Amino acid sequence: MNVLVTGAAGFIGSHLSRRLLREGAHVIAVDSFTDFYPRWIKERNLSPFAGDPNFEFFSQDLLDFNLEEILARVDVVYHLAAQAGVRSSWGENFSVYIQNNILSTQRLLEAAKGKPLHRLIYASSSSVYGLTPTLPMSETSLLYPLSPYGVTKLAAEQLCLLYFQSYAVPTVALRFFTVYGPGQRPDMAFHKFFRAIAEGRPISVFGDGEQTRDFTHIDDIVEASFSASRRGRPGEVYNVGGGHRERLNDLLPILEETCGKKLEVIREERQKGDVAHTFADIGKAALDLGYSPRTILKDGLREEWEWIKTLYRA
Ligand code: NAD
Repeated sequence: MNVLVTGAAGFIGSHLSRRLLREGAHVIAVDSFTDFYPRWIKERNLSPFAGDPNFEFFSQDLLDFNLEEILARVDVVYHLAAQAGVRSSWGENFSVYIQNNILSTQRLLEAAKGKPLHRLIYASSSSVYGLTPTLPMSETSLLYPLSPYGVTKLAAEQLCLLYFQSYAVPTVALRFFTVYGPGQRPDMAFHKFFRAIAEGRPISVFGDGEQTRDFTHIDDIVEASFSASRRGRPGEVYNVGGGHRERLNDLLPILEETCGKKLEVIREERQKGDVAHTFADIGKAALDLGYSPRTILKDGLREEWEWIKTLYRA
């Protein structure tokens, strides 16, 4: 099986690539090394694949990439490339989000028209729900993004559905809920917390800490993505969450226990774009994809803490 992974040098893309190689796939990978976080971290993500004849890497922007030629020789596309991050999506920076989240997806979908693809999996986000009043959030809930990032992820998701309806491109959108574990992006909370703890600095908590999040371990995300490429119904959207939600204030003692250190916490003002709660209804993914999240938060946090220590020692 030949697959294309966009955003392969990133957090989720590199984990997914490892899994696909293990399944015996030939992985065509593309990443433009955007400067959202340091390039050395992305190169480190890719280092296990060096010299693997089944891993073909292109250091290119999706907006210039020869997609016509590549899509003619792949069975499945995992489209993960994007400009992530809620807080940095306001202001002038929005144009980067339009380019990397909307235009690049539209270009990919155009090139996918008429190609013999089995599935095109799009990495959507819980941020499309934003202020939706229903918890848990189900695929039929009202969509009300609270950040420009969420707006671009929703626009690209809608494009996927449109290209399925109009051109039968077999798109499946997965709405990932806060992903964590080894490799997590440096702008994400656990990464920032663990790094600060490792360096003996206080951690910053935005808002009153009563916000809740549905955290999903990276292994569960990879499993859902792989399964969606086989069992996902084209034209459908699935939530991929961890199956429970945690209050940030309740997590602080768990972080202390994980690191074996007392935390110094600085309370800061709530950030624009941060939603109060996320919680996924994963019933549809369970039914269609056989999805069942396996990793317990405490175990996943311990793994991430061990990884952070090696990352910054390196
Ligand atoms: P990441 O930033 O680690 O990976 C994204 C990669 O895409 C980066 O390496 C970047 O260089 C690359 N990229 C961006 N624009 C590109 C372009 N135009 N051409 C080629 N490469 C480009 O992010 P991640 O956390 O691995 O997220 C992967 C996907 O999952 C994204 O689409 C993100 O929106 C989605 N998602 C992530 C989370 C999460 O908690 N990590 C939650 C919901 C959705």
